Amino acid sequence: MIEIEDAWVRIERHVRQNETVEVDLQQAVGRVLATQLDSDSDSPPFSKSLVDGFAVGSPPAETVSYLISEIVTAGNVPTKTLSAGQATQIMTGAPIPEGSIGVIMVEETQASDDRRIVVTSTNFSMGQNILNQGRVVSKSEKLLDSGYRLQAHHVGALAEFGINRVDVVRKTNVAVLVTGDELVPIDETPGPGQIRNSNGSLIASMIDSAGGEATILGVGRDNMSDLLEKIAIGLQHDILVIAGGVSAGVLDLVPKCLTESRVEQDFHKINLKPGKPLWFGTRTQNSESDPLTQKQDKTLVFGLPGNPVSTLVCFKLFVEPIIRRLDGGAKEPMFYTGSLSADFHFTGGRRTFWPCRFVRRPDTGINNREGSELEPLPWVGSSDQVRFLYADALVEFAGERQTFHAGQTVRYVKL
Ligand code: AMP
Ligand code: MG
Repeated sequence: MIEIEDAWVRIERHVRQNETVEVDLQQAVGRVLATQLDSDSDSPPFSKSLVDGFAVGSPPAETVSYLISEIVTAGNVPTKTLSAGQATQIMTGAPIPEGSIGVIMVEETQASDDRRIVVTSTNFSMGQNILNQGRVVSKSEKLLDSGYRLQAHHVGALAEFGINRVDVVRKTNVAVLVTGDELVPIDETPGPGQIRNSNGSLIASMIDSAGGEATILGVGRDNMSDLLEKIAIGLQHDILVIAGGVSAGVLDLVPKCLTESRVEQDFHKINLKPGKPLWFGTRTQNSESDPLTQKQDKTLVFGLPGNPVSTLVCFKLFVEPIIRRLDGGAKEPMFYTGSLSADFHFTGGRRTFWPCRFVRRPDTGINNREGSELEPLPWVGSSDQVRFLYADALVEFAGERQTFHAGQTVRYVKL
């Protein structure tokens, strides 16, 4: 039995970033940028007005009223050069005429006749309300380093520079195989001894949220031939996740099938509750592997125990970070710290991850989500996923039988 930290080190050894693909900018959200992006032009591309008002050729202190020489709206260009005593009526975003020394907001002016304005405010500074060409960034300057995971707010900034295709790291493809003779589809009513295949949906959603691409291999029944056949397909992916069949039951055939499929075991069993029977290994690709689905030289294979919460916890701790590493993500911290909102009685034993919710304080209007207070939920054990309907985090408890007191600092993993 190994420790969680050892498992991370062992798994991390096999991380090889997926190759680069070019995609449309909008498709790149959630994916890691593979090349540096530079500006194709100055920003702003021309000196522009920041307000609706009047570009002036001399300061108001020297000028009783200004003669309006033309009107320039956004999308048009000025044709007249300003000299002292002249103004151009200009709209926000329109190019500044030659000779302007600043723009006075329309609210600070009054029309004196059809062709003239007077300024009502005494405040004026040279260059006011003008954003000079290249003030934000100049042409060919670096906009963003490679390695960033793009978010929606990056898209607007990149689109400004005409970047409509970007190189990103390919998404990690993950095959999902759930196992068990007892499983029926979730839209069916289970017969005697049967249960719904909730793990299939759980794992597929977790892959989606981690930014991976799930391939569902269906339910493998608890016999060697069915499992071997489905494992063979699963091994054509970057990652194969198998749920169930890795513990000590008579029909827990997964480790045997993996060995037979030439998957090399790295570890089996971990000091973790729930999740002790976790299995991990790798299979080096041979030339028969399908080049369309498999571009990594190795498939990472995770055998997760089938109890739904064991599946969830093992996926969260070990599979999710690896999906995000293969697709170019940096190593991220797993643990956060918070404090308990109530006493918790720990029965001792294996390192335990217990579902907790963040205490929210609607009275202050602050959703106390980060750096939070955590309330342990009344959880029944590894088959109880109902408690997770209200859970925000998994809090780690370890050591001998003891009471963890309210206010005590704890480590947690975010769900
Ligand atoms: P196993 O790891 O195969 O021994 O399964 C442990 C427990 O998890 C058993 O009670 C299974 O019925 C249950 N289980 C296994 N696979 C699934 C699944 N896909 N969905 C829901 N429960 C499952
Ligand atoms: Mg089973």
